[in-house]
Formats: sequence, structure tokens, C-alpha cells
Amino acid sequence: MSFRTRFAPSPTGPLHLGHAYSALLAHDRARAAGGAFLLRLDDIDQARARAHWARQIEDDLGWLGITWDAPVMRQSDRIPRYRAALGDLWARGLLYPCTCTRRDIEAAAAAPQEGAPLLGPDGRVYPGTCRADAPRAGPLPEGPALRLDMARALDLAGVAARPLGFEETGLAEPPSLDPESLIAGIGDVALARRDMGASYHLSVVLDDADQAITHVIRGADLAPATAIHVLLQRLLGLPTPVYHHHRLIRDEAGRRLAKRDDARAIATYRADGRSPADIRMMVGLQPSIALAERRP
Ligand code: GLU
Repeated sequence: MSFRTRFAPSPTGPLHLGHAYSALLAHDRARAAGGAFLLRLDDIDQARARAHWARQIEDDLGWLGITWDAPVMRQSDRIPRYRAALGDLWARGLLYPCTCTRRDIEAAAAAPQEGAPLLGPDGRVYPGTCRADAPRAGPLPEGPALRLDMARALDLAGVAARPLGFEETGLAEPPSLDPESLIAGIGDVALARRDMGASYHLSVVLDDADQAITHVIRGADLAPATAIHVLLQRLLGLPTPVYHHHRLIRDEAGRRLAKRDDARAIATYRADGRSPADIRMMVGLQPSIALAERRP
């Protein structure tokens, strides 16, 4: 099997140590396998994405010794592709429009008869308020959020019939893909958000397929979302890549690094005179032969 992987940062903040680890790990593995490494900018959330962060990310990656083998893909250029896939799912009766606000969802999930509110990969599991009465016929609705009817999706022949499998998750316990936990623990996920052409889940699945990605290497924080991604691949007739979810880089107090954590931004380390080899050491990666050769 050929090896094609990618790094897909969202340009909503600086590249920090956690991102550097993810990108270097994927890049090292692609180079070791004689495969390809691609860069994609997950800028679907145009309200938060910034061109200057995209430039900084590309610059920091180059400084780390990372090269990519195809022009950068940008989600913001691909809205028609995402809408076409939504149109396909809509025509099959698998989506419904949802007008609930975040506050509506909180309130419904917190109602006494609901028991303890469940948290899924996107926060509160949607309690299904709009599911029964939402229109499902006519043209694809343009504006509201569109949710996947999870129970219907799982009913489709070929989805539930074959077990949804994972390969090489890198986790002690791979996320569960059985129908019960998809319905109860993930529920009717949004595939299009209000005022956003598509959600992360839909776009990432289409992007990976269109870039012919064979190996997805990303943080363990995204492992629960992978169940959604594998299901969408089944529904859309797309191949499922090998998923490897790596450990997360934490600060001294054991907290996960966040975008706003400028102290661990690669740009800050650069300004402090650290080298790419220092960054590799900080995240626990072996020195790179390519970097060693570049040294004077
Ligand atoms: N854009 C996502 C993030 O920065 C990563 C998506 C992915 O690797 O699938 O968390």
C-alpha cells in the first residue's frame, strides 16, 4: 500500500508544540515510507480563520524542515464539494434541518427526565428536538444547521451490516463503533453548521478522500470523532484510511496545550533562538537525519 498522509491545522492561532509533534510525526513516517506528505488548511470556520495564521503556520513548518508534496489544499475553496455531498445525503433522507441554539440544546439536555447529559465529540449529545417535525423534502436547505439522522444512517444496508473497523489506532482502547454507542454517545451530529457550508466532520472526510490519504496521523483528542468519520465514509462510499491517534503534548502541569498558549508557540521558540532539533527533542522525537545533515 502506498503511504500518503497529511497535516491539517486550523489557521485560528499559532502553531504550538503539540501541532509540531503531530506534523513532524506524520512527516517522518511519510519520508521513512517513501510516501507523500500533504498540507491542508482546515479553514472552514471563516469567522475564526486568519490569513496571517496560515502564513505563520506554513513558515513554521518550513523552518521545522517539513516539506509538502502538493499545493496546499484549503477547505474554504471546497464549499461546492461539501454542499454536493450534503445534497446526496439529503436526497437519501439522512439529514434534517435543525434550528436549535446551543442554549436550547443545553436546556433540553438538562431537563430532569433526560438523566445525566451525555457528552459526545461535539459537546452535548443532541437531544433530537427537531428530528421528528423537520422537513426532509424539497431542495437542500441553505442556512440552518443540518444534522445526520444517526439511527436512519445506521439502518442503511451496508453500514450496520459490516462492522465499522479501525486499523492501528495507537490507542490502548479504540473508540467504539457499535450502533448503540453511535446513537447514544454521538447522536445526530451536525454535518452543516448554521452560516457555515459544512461541518468539520464532513469536510475532513471528503478532503481525506480527495487527497487520497491512506494514513491519518493526528492527536488522541480526535479519536472519538473518528467513529463519525468512518461512518460518513461508509455512507458516501469512500475508502477508510488507517488511523493513528498519537499521544498529546502536555505542559508541565499535565494540561493539554491550547491555541492561545503563546508561550509554547513555535514562533516564540524561534524568537528565543531555539533550533528545529531542540523542538524535536522537546516533543520526544529522534533527531532527524535531514536536519543533522543541514547543520554547518
Ligand atoms: N483541523 C483539526 C485540528 O486542528 C485537525 C483535523 C484532523 O487532523 O483531522 O484539530
